[in-house]
Amino acid sequence: MEEDEGSLKVKKPPLGLAKKTDWRTILRDSVSTPTALANSLNLSKDEISEVCDNYPAMINPYYLSLVKKKGDPIYKQCVPDVKELQDYVGEEDPLCEEPDHQQRKGVPSLVTHRYPDRLLFRVSNQCAMFCRFCTRKRKVGHPKKNPTPKEISEAIIYIKNHSEIRDVILSGGDPLMLGDKQLETIIRNVYNILKKRKNSIIRIGTRMPCVLPQRVTKGLCRMLKKYHPLFINTHFNHPSEITPESRKACGMLVDSGIPMGNQTVLLKGVNDDPAVMKELVQGLINMRVRPYYLYQADLVRGTNHFRTTVQKGLEIYKALRGHTSGLCVPNYVIDAPGGGGKIPLLPEYVVSISKDKVVLKNYENKKFEYLQIE
Ligand SMILES: *Cc1c(COP(=O)(O)O)cnc(C)c1O
Ligand code: SF4
Repeated sequence: MEEDEGSLKVKKPPLGLAKKTDWRTILRDSVSTPTALANSLNLSKDEISEVCDNYPAMINPYYLSLVKKKGDPIYKQCVPDVKELQDYVGEEDPLCEEPDHQQRKGVPSLVTHRYPDRLLFRVSNQCAMFCRFCTRKRKVGHPKKNPTPKEISEAIIYIKNHSEIRDVILSGGDPLMLGDKQLETIIRNVYNILKKRKNSIIRIGTRMPCVLPQRVTKGLCRMLKKYHPLFINTHFNHPSEITPESRKACGMLVDSGIPMGNQTVLLKGVNDDPAVMKELVQGLINMRVRPYYLYQADLVRGTNHFRTTVQKGLEIYKALRGHTSGLCVPNYVIDAPGGGGKIPLLPEYVVSISKDKVVLKNYENKKFEYLQIE
C-alpha cells in the first residue's frame, strides 16, 4: 500500500501522565472532533469531517500512543479513512442483529438470541476507541442509541423467562465502558438467574485490555471474581497491541480466576500475514490469553478496504496449525451474512474417506492413512 510515511507527526500525548491517572481521565483526553484529529494526526480536516459525519471517531491517548507511523497497523484500526465512504457493497447490519430482523417475537432490543442455550446482551453502546472496521459501526458511539434502564430490564426479564439460556454474553459496544457499580448490577441480576441453571456461565466481550488496559483495576477484578464462572473474551489484532500495560491488565484478570480468550478480526494491512498472526497468537498465549476465534471480516458497509479473501485466512490458519502450539491456534470462522451464526472454515486435511480407509494430509502436506473398521 502506498503510504506517505514521512508526513505523520502524531502529537504524542503525555503518557507518563496517563499512566498515573485513571481510565476515565484518559478517556476524557480522547481525540474525537475532526479538528482535534486533523491536528494531532496532521491530516486534512475536510476529509476527516466528511468521514466523521457518517461514522464517528474516537481515539484515546493510550491507543494513539501505540501508533508509530502513518498507515501502520495501529493507525489503520483507529484513524478515519475516506475509503470508508467509498463502499457501495456491504450492509449496515449484515448479521441481522437489529430487532426488526429478529424473527423470533418478543426478543428485546438489546438481545440477540441466535443459538439454543446462549445469547448476546448488548449492555453498552460506548467503546474506548472506535475501531474503523467495527461490525456495529452503524451504532457504536451514538449517544441516542445507549441502552436505557428499561431496555436493560427487558433483557433481564427475557433471560429469566427463558430457562434454556445457560450462557449469557455481555457485549456492546464495550461492557467495561460502564462503571463498576452499574456493571455489577447487571452481572448480579444475570448471575442470580443463571446460578439456578445447570452448567451456567457468564461471559464478557471487551476490547479494554487491548485499547485501554488502565480500565482493568483491582476494584474491577475484585468485583468480577464474585460471579464465577465468568469468562472474558478480549480483542487483540496485532502484536504491537501487546504492551506492558495490556500484559498487566490480562495478568490481573487471569489472576482473578477469569479464563481469557481472544477474538481477532482478519484485517487487510493489519494482520493478513502468517508471520504477524503467529507473533500475535504466541504473544497472547504468553499473557495467558487463549486465541479463540479468528473472524473473517463481516460484509459491513464502510469496511470493505479491510477485507481479505477466505483463501488468505486459510493460508494463515495452515501456517499456524502444527507449526506452533495448538493452544495458539484459533478457530477460523465466518459469521454468516443473514444471521446464520458462526461457521468454521478449515483447510482440507481429509484427502479421501471410504468405508475402511481415511487418507489424511498433515501440516507438512505429507499423506497418512488411517484404517477403520465398522
Ligand atoms: C458469537 C455469538 C455467540 C457465542 O458463540 P460461541 O461460539 O458460543 O462463542 C452467541 N450469540 C451470538 C449472537 C453470537 O454472535
Ligand atoms: S471495541 Fe468492538 S464494538 Fe467497540 S468499536 Fe471496536 S470492534 Fe466495535
